[in-house]
Amino acid sequence: MIELDWKPTKNSPEPLYRQIVVYIRDKVAAGDWVIGSRLPSQRDMAEAFGVNRSTVVAAMEELISYGILESGYGGGTRVKSNTWSLLMSRPPDWSEYIKSGPFRANLPTIQAINRLEFEPGYIRIGTGELSPDLYPEKLLTKIFRRMPEVVPNLGYLGALGLPELGRAISERLREKQGIKVGPSNILITSGSLQALQLISVCMLKRGSAVYTEAPTYLKSLQVFQSAGMNMIGVPMDGEGIKYWHIKDDCKDSLLYTIPTFQNPTGTVMSEARRKELLNFAAGHRLPLLEDNAYGELWFDARPPKALKAYDTTGSVIYLGTVSKTMAPGLRIGWVAGPEAVVQRLGDVKMQTDYGASSVSQWVMTELLTSGGYDEYLEKLRVELKERRDYALAILKEEFSGMATWNVPEGGFYIWLRFDRKLPMDKIFSDALKSGVLINPGNIYDYGENNAIRISYAYAKPEELKKALKILSGIGEKYYKR
Ligand code: PMP
Repeated sequence: MIELDWKPTKNSPEPLYRQIVVYIRDKVAAGDWVIGSRLPSQRDMAEAFGVNRSTVVAAMEELISYGILESGYGGGTRVKSNTWSLLMSRPPDWSEYIKSGPFRANLPTIQAINRLEFEPGYIRIGTGELSPDLYPEKLLTKIFRRMPEVVPNLGYLGALGLPELGRAISERLREKQGIKVGPSNILITSGSLQALQLISVCMLKRGSAVYTEAPTYLKSLQVFQSAGMNMIGVPMDGEGIKYWHIKDDCKDSLLYTIPTFQNPTGTVMSEARRKELLNFAAGHRLPLLEDNAYGELWFDARPPKALKAYDTTGSVIYLGTVSKTMAPGLRIGWVAGPEAVVQRLGDVKMQTDYGASSVSQWVMTELLTSGGYDEYLEKLRVELKERRDYALAILKEEFSGMATWNVPEGGFYIWLRFDRKLPMDKIFSDALKSGVLINPGNIYDYGENNAIRISYAYAKPEELKKALKILSGIGEKYYKR
């Protein structure tokens, strides 16, 4: 994917088209733009460079005449050759190298979302992050100011992370969730994503089955697939995963679940289902990986206890994070599990990054031990609930008769399902053209679906309204066809 993050200098003696020629030539020569890569359209380039289209045309003509670019099949311009750079020195064939590692690239739609989220001008109605408006500036400023006295040094930490934080987390898990673990059962990770990554490379054989809810957040990543796992989607109902669809012979496999305010469907696994699932897991010696990223974000009533709280057989590895409740930028997550498991993961973590940021770990310790985190969470729940109600009211106005959706009791997400099969890729690109960035449901699923993940946590309420109106207009257009 070629990105244009440069502009020619307007008042330079060098003509604009020449500057563009040199820029593109150097990108190709440096191996940044590999042979065969497709350049953006002339119109997009003109816009990105801030020049007239005729200037781009002149630059393209010159680059084509040098044999660096070719205009090709089906319109479009591609990088043809970097052979003139042979005269200088021959770069390694990066296009081959970058295809060679075992870690898979993101899905193209996710790459696009990851890029567009950082471009101004889009209303983001699928983003799984709290709005910058909800950033607890006062609280965090107070905590940051204390850091000079609190942080004793910034040396490396032990394999399980900052002991003070491990203690604070284990106390919190006991107190709030009834999860009976001690500090020796806790590994601090750099976000819960790192825990997933560590588990994928430390604990499973290639070819092992990883069962998940269908749809699931995990399917939008390539972590387990890159480690050679076989991902298997298990259907859900209103009470959670229908675990009885799992094969009886599930040796060497693992079940990943988000039982509370599931991403992307918002579903909460019922207490009865939790107990049945644990029985099933214990009976089959099937490890459960419980991802509780959203569990503390309940609105009216606490959800059932975490699976880990009912776990008497040591079948559950529990993942927590502050990314959804407060600040993904802290990159603080944790694993709570059997000692042998956290030690194994901690050993590999030491080999990969030698610990999560100790500044972040001290900040998190202060947040938890000062009581500031809990006070903040209480307010956040109220705010999120208001946003949910607002989003539901708009959905009712805009999507009734065309789609159905859940009423989430916590977390961030509404799973909006059109009643008919619609061309979701076209809806994605039409929405983009109107300045709305959506997370289409198929990125979380094992096949096509007619769903869109709506998050009421990120966009400003009035922007969410505007964007949902636009989206319903687009939906209607295809719905009627
Ligand atoms: N688990 C779930 C269910 C999530 O939704 C996310 C973020 N979208 C993560 C894990 C990753 O969060 P982090 O690495 O920031 O803790």
